[in-house]
Amino acid sequence: MRIMVQKFGGSSVATATQRERVCARIQEALQDGFSVVVVVSAMGRVGDPYATDTLINLTQEVYPDCPKRELDLLLSCGEIISSAVLAAHLLRLGYNVTVLSGREAGIITDNNFGDARVLRVIPTKILELLKLKKIVIVAGFQGVTEEGEVTTLGRGGSDTTACALGIALGAEVVDIFTDVQGIMTADPRIVEKARLLDQVTYYEICHLAHQGAKVIHPHAVEMAMQNNIPLRVRSTFVEGLGTLVSNGSYGARVGVDIRSDRLITGITHIAQITQLQITINQEDVSAALVQIFQSLARAGISVDFINIHPEVAIFTVADTVVEKAVKIMKNLHFEPQVRPNCAKISVVGAGMAGIPGVMATIVEALGREQIPILQSTDSHTTIWCLVDRSQMERAVRVLHQAFQLDRED
Ligand code: ADP
Ligand code: ASP
Ligand code: MG
Repeated sequence: MRIMVQKFGGSSVATATQRERVCARIQEALQDGFSVVVVVSAMGRVGDPYATDTLINLTQEVYPDCPKRELDLLLSCGEIISSAVLAAHLLRLGYNVTVLSGREAGIITDNNFGDARVLRVIPTKILELLKLKKIVIVAGFQGVTEEGEVTTLGRGGSDTTACALGIALGAEVVDIFTDVQGIMTADPRIVEKARLLDQVTYYEICHLAHQGAKVIHPHAVEMAMQNNIPLRVRSTFVEGLGTLVSNGSYGARVGVDIRSDRLITGITHIAQITQLQITINQEDVSAALVQIFQSLARAGISVDFINIHPEVAIFTVADTVVEKAVKIMKNLHFEPQVRPNCAKISVVGAGMAGIPGVMATIVEALGREQIPILQSTDSHTTIWCLVDRSQMERAVRVLHQAFQLDRED
């Protein structure tokens, strides 16, 4: 049996017209001889009646501290609604369809509600249904703990469902259908001239995804990479094969030359972060640093962009946890300087290691446009710059142009 997993994001299933297009995509896969497992996200985006954000708001407005376990139960409904509605479209066309929740699809996770990790998948039921020539629709973004409690897999987690199923079922390929043509050199909503990357390595996409290219969830890419299962990120609405994410061997099999030697793969951005700067006046600086970072870790606060200087610690946290982080610092008798409204711009490229001039291009380009770099750090694949949120879009565009990413390579 040749199995294909097709995942359709929220913006692909928001309206009846869009769902008709989804049905056509499923039909194409069936015509190509695949047994098809379809993973769907909740319908639409912010403001749409059954979108994940709308469901979150239902409880937020009443009780903002709703326990994550209860919230997960609520959020899982979005994908179930979407699956049943898509099934109705397929049934009307005469297809044989079964809808499964994450639990029924055998997706077992840990109990980290709100951001659970898939531990294993028991694909028995799906395989039985495929043998009966059914199209199986699985509600994305959800699983169940060993104890049977419903979990969700973190925002954007339907991609993870698709990859986990693809791996467990030995699928030939996992297609992630979305509202853009594929993975691009920057978010096309920000950079009009962003170019489609028709082939990329897992490694490159992992970096882009971790640094904010929300077109695919980083856990999904990591999973695919570890299990060497090819992914395609494609448009539901525009013809084309989109971006093939794999290693060289699959690329060679389907006649695509997978390169990993690009100097810069793309520019990504993450908004809604705040910089904290803490001056350490006490004599034992290292004891103070231990105190600061251990206390934040104990509170489950993830810190990023860490620069330590003698007597000063600078780092960023997500806007959502600033208040909590500042309170912790004050309890330790530190007075953090808070710089709100920051954004992180990442220049990502697996080929930049050891190549001189990348930082020079960044400072020159941002300097020319009078975009101050508030903080910067680097690894062998990425250079990060912190800028003011108001400059974020412009900084992405300026860097995209400076590295000539709009040109064919
Ligand atoms: P879905 O609902 O299909 O899961 P998402 O909203 O999660 O869709 O992801 C698709 C969006 O990702 C696009 O609409 C685009 O704005 C955004 N995006 C961010 N960075 C990139 C990038 N480098 N390439 C393509 N899309 C990107
Ligand atoms: N509906 C979920 C979200 O909005 C999962 C997904 O879209 O992948 O995060
Ligand atoms: Mg998504």
